[in-house]
Amino acid sequence: MRVAVAGAGVAGLTAALRLGEAGHAVDVYERWPGLGGQAATLDVGGGHRLERYYHHLFTSDRHIAALYDELGMPDELEWRPSSMAFFLEGRSWPFTSPLDLLRFRPLSPLARVRMGLAVLRLQRTAREVRPFESETARAWIVRAMGAQAYAKVWGPLLRGKFGDRADDISMAWLWGKLTMRRRLEGGEARQELLGYPRRSWEPLFEALQARIEAAGGRVLIDRPVARLSAAEEGGFAIIAGAEGSFRAGHDPRRFPPDGVPERYDAVLATVPNDVFRSLLDDDLAARIGQAYLEGLERIEYHAALCLLLELDRRFSPFYWTNVADPELPFVGLIEHTNFVEPERYDGRRFLYVANYLEHGHELLSLDPEALIERYTPGLRRVNPAFERGWIRERWLFREPAAQPIVTVGYGARIPPLATGVPGLWLANTTQIYPEDRGTNYAVRLGEQAAAAMVA
Ligand SMILES: Cc1cc2nc3c(=O)[nH]c(=O)nc-3n(C[C@H](O)[C@H](O)[C@H](O)COP(=O)(O)OP(=O)(O)OC[C@H]3O[C@@H](n4cnc5c(N)ncnc54)[C@H](O)[C@@H]3O)c2cc1C
Repeated sequence: MRVAVAGAGVAGLTAALRLGEAGHAVDVYERWPGLGGQAATLDVGGGHRLERYYHHLFTSDRHIAALYDELGMPDELEWRPSSMAFFLEGRSWPFTSPLDLLRFRPLSPLARVRMGLAVLRLQRTAREVRPFESETARAWIVRAMGAQAYAKVWGPLLRGKFGDRADDISMAWLWGKLTMRRRLEGGEARQELLGYPRRSWEPLFEALQARIEAAGGRVLIDRPVARLSAAEEGGFAIIAGAEGSFRAGHDPRRFPPDGVPERYDAVLATVPNDVFRSLLDDDLAARIGQAYLEGLERIEYHAALCLLLELDRRFSPFYWTNVADPELPFVGLIEHTNFVEPERYDGRRFLYVANYLEHGHELLSLDPEALIERYTPGLRRVNPAFERGWIRERWLFREPAAQPIVTVGYGARIPPLATGVPGLWLANTTQIYPEDRGTNYAVRLGEQAAAAMVA
């Protein structure tokens, strides 16, 4: 088969690897002038790369760890202790070890014990997601741990991921987070270990590209799919967008078409739902049918707004600070160089200021300087000594389809990989459930999609 894959994120590259290995001729089309999608990196100078959006792995992320092994790079992944805090009531509260919970004064002593026991009970006994699919995390937590625990801990945690949709998130999602992400025996019971590839995520993408090309495939960056239609002679026709199309944004209808249509026997789209819908011509959309397309439209995404700052000194003692004070205009502070030592970056220090926002939110339209202006009072609340002069360099990234909103009953709304048109497949982050979407599950999804396509 001649197969086209739209998107060179982790799912697209993994699928292309497997399709190539199965003997198919694969072309990967990517809109961005680089690989990796949401896990893509940038050159921060001095020979160093960092992800545009903060990234780490959990010890339970076995699909991506197996891929590193298979690609001959097992030493690339390093596992390091992480440190976490909650910023609440004017200070940062360490939240790294179980003992920290007992010292967490924003909760009454009884609420602390109740919360600890409820988490333990869930981790020890709740093996199945089903009982958690029909209620919100909020309802479950208020019942099992009390209203205080939701207001001070879990509500803010969910807000850090789903913005103002926190109260609507399904308990199934939180069940996944609490039961699947870490080993609860041995050293990790006391302090969680997180993984980070020695030289960023980039070498993984390069290795995948090299393998795809060695199997005869092509990886075409800065070459988006602009139009997708059914070909007269059977299969599909793709018209690519001209070089630099990414400057026109995400909607493929705005990409100037370039060159003649290429024909493929099968197509796998790993792009977000709205992008997929915009690629289709009317005839192909009609063949897919309203039911499938409406299902795609019903899934909401929040956008990620991520400001990466290089600072001339350490900002906080923690890797990950959940901002539980709703007065602050951002939801998380991720100080990468409190996780990976600054010596790796010639002594330089990096802090991500994280936000998830609904589309159209005013913060999404600010330029880096204006955003820093808006964030500075909040940064000072966390560290009163902070000054603009600490900032050496800044980068700002926006990802419209960053986080599918996993509400109650989500499992029943997940779009199938098969679109209903033979040979046309869709695999994207909306299909990761009940786990939290991440690069590990993008590997799994890419493998599932490739297996379904060649079955
Ligand atoms: C703020 C943030 C923090 C995160 N933190 C972590 C973390 O700590 N650990 C972790 O494992 N994961 C994390 N993730 C999630 C992880 O990055 C994603 O789940 C994963 O990378 C998704 O891979 P994908 O291939 O499914 O999708 P994507 O990475 O979204 O890939 C889709 C690709 O399609 C391309 N594309 C779009 N339109 C077109 C077109 N018309 N033609 C061709 N290509 C097109 C896009 O440019 C993109 O490269 C984070 C994500 C965000 C936003």
